[in-house]
Amino acid sequence: MEEMGVLLKLQELDLELNKIQAEHDSIPAQMEEMERDCNELNVEIEEQESELKTLKVTIREAESKIALLDEISKKYKQQLLTVKTNREYSALLTEIESVKREKEELEELIIQNMEKIEALSAEIKEKNGRLKKLGKERQGKKDELDVKLKELSNEMVRHKRKRGRLTGGVNRPTLKLYERIMNSRVNRAVVPVRSGSCGGCFAHVPLQKVADIRKGSQIYTCDGCGRILYYDESQSDS
Ligand SMILES: [Zn+2]
Repeated sequence: MEEMGVLLKLQELDLELNKIQAEHDSIPAQMEEMERDCNELNVEIEEQESELKTLKVTIREAESKIALLDEISKKYKQQLLTVKTNREYSALLTEIESVKREKEELEELIIQNMEKIEALSAEIKEKNGRLKKLGKERQGKKDELDVKLKELSNEMVRHKRKRGRLTGGVNRPTLKLYERIMNSRVNRAVVPVRSGSCGGCFAHVPLQKVADIRKGSQIYTCDGCGRILYYDESQSDS
C-alpha cells in the first residue's frame, strides 16, 4: 500500500525531528549550567577575599595591641626600679609576666592568621586561575552551542518542509489518526505485525486481520494499544 510507505517515512522523519527538537531544546539549559558554574566559583572567591580582609584586620589590631603592651611593660619595668616594698615588687613582676603572656598569645594569633592568609591566598589564586580557564571554556562552548542551535534550527525547518511534502501523500483521517497516536507520547504510531502480534504492545492479532493488513486495502489498528499496524514483509508472521 502506497500510503503505508509514506506513513512509515513520515514516522521516521518525525522520530528524527523529535530528536533534533530535544537536542535543540537542551541547549539553553547547557548554557545556563556553564553560567552557574562560573557564578558559583565567583561567589566562593568573593567570600574568601572578604575572609582574607578580616584576617588582615585582625593582624593589624593584634599588632597595635602588642605595641600598647610593650609600652605598659616598659612602664612596669621602670617602676620596678622605684618600688619600696617587696610586695609591690612582686606584684609588679606578676603584672609584667601577665603582660608578657598576653603578648605571646597575640603573637601566636598573628602567626596563625598569617598561615591562614597564606593558605587562603593560594586557594584564591588557584580559583582565579580556574575561573579564567572556565570563562574561556565557557566562551568556546557558547560559540559552539550557538552554531549548533542555528544548525538544528535550520535542520528543523528542512525537516518540516519535507514533512509537509510527505503529509500530502496521506489522506486526512489517516494523518489525523497517526498524529493523535504520535502525540500520545508513544514512541511509534505505526508498528509492524510480527509473529501474529502487535510490534508495539505484543497483543495477539487474529490471523484474518493479519491477512487483511497484508492486503493493505485499508488502515488497521491494534485492539490492544490502538497503534496503526502494517505487514512487515521482511519478518515472518508464521
Ligand atoms: Zn498494540
